[in-house]
Amino acid sequence: MNFSVNEKGYYGPYGGAWIPEMLYPNVEELRRNYLQILESDEFRREFKNLLSDYAGRPTPLYYASRLSEKYGAHVYLKREDLTHTGAHKINNTIGQILVARRLGKRRIIAETGAGQHGVATATVCAREGLECIVYMGETDVKRQAPNVAKMKMLGAKVVEVYSGNKTLKDATNEAIRDWINHPVETHYIIGSVVGPHPYPDMVARLQSVISEEMKVQLLEKTGRDFPDAVLACVGGGSNAAGAFYHYLDIPQVRLFAVEAAGEGINTGHSAATTVLGKPGIIHGSRTLLMQDTDGQITEPYSISAGLDYPGIGPIHSWLAESGRAKFLWATDDEALQAAFELTRLEGIIPALESAHALAALGKIPFGPNETVVVNLSGRGDKDLETYIKHMKP
Ligand SMILES: *Cc1c(COP(=O)(O)O)cnc(C)c1O
Repeated sequence: MNFSVNEKGYYGPYGGAWIPEMLYPNVEELRRNYLQILESDEFRREFKNLLSDYAGRPTPLYYASRLSEKYGAHVYLKREDLTHTGAHKINNTIGQILVARRLGKRRIIAETGAGQHGVATATVCAREGLECIVYMGETDVKRQAPNVAKMKMLGAKVVEVYSGNKTLKDATNEAIRDWINHPVETHYIIGSVVGPHPYPDMVARLQSVISEEMKVQLLEKTGRDFPDAVLACVGGGSNAAGAFYHYLDIPQVRLFAVEAAGEGINTGHSAATTVLGKPGIIHGSRTLLMQDTDGQITEPYSISAGLDYPGIGPIHSWLAESGRAKFLWATDDEALQAAFELTRLEGIIPALESAHALAALGKIPFGPNETVVVNLSGRGDKDLETYIKHMKP
């Protein structure tokens, strides 16, 4: 089975470019140029240098001995939390700003949930000297205050969004509206493997550096360049796509994607798209989507702003449907517990999003000699307020 995108932008029945006519020239320009840009020696050299000297790559692959003891397998953490700005998002924004420059764009827009993508975008815009406008739901502005302050300090304009439940989906709607109104000079840096083709494929390629490094690091540490299992959380699915990328065609590697179940799958407060969703169209792509019987999007919920999204990228809909990846979920409480556990066992405070992946360690039976990699997508600084609220005395 093929897990690469086809020329039309589809993974099985999912993907495509479902966009209004006004956006066609912009998206088509990107589609015609992205592969040539990403594969050019000049881009690859600049991207690689910035990933190493600016973002701090390669990120370590850390053997978590106390976590390993607890779960009865060899557990490694891929430390995306140690990158500049604190999450995997920087890999994508560095790549896309280099693409935007090559397309001659001077104005950058972005959406953000947890604020990590907003900060990563504001960061590369500062470095490049480009105008930056970030759309963010009012709910998220409140729960991720440190990131809002960082974006402003970096010179970005943060536009609060008051529609829907004022989170990631609504911020994305607003960013797309801006894009439609400024279709020529603007590049929209989408923060995950979502949106119209070619975004899901472009973002997956830019994030694939995660599994590219894992191969080298595992070979060095275990004598084999692949693990038995890879775990990653899924909001839109970019850190998971990057962590899975080079293992998609190696069937021995079990892939586990972990969604946010919020207060529980059937509570009406959840974001577990593969359980609750049906095929539909959101933000330019045909994919699994939480919706009611009239096709209206259901408001998602998760304690973690980065996973609070009613869809998933089309590649993940296909990985779920084909069975190549197994989709699991973790509730708010399970994620909080996993975050406190990692902090106490390994001295690492994870992002709430990443804590969902950690929470799945207890849901998978592992053999004692199995090698397991958890993609630790980000650090927990931005979530401290939430952690303090839930800390047991
Ligand atoms: C944004 C974010 C996520 C979710 O986005 P994906 O595209 O699913 O990776 C996960 N973890 C962290 C730390 C994030 O900032």
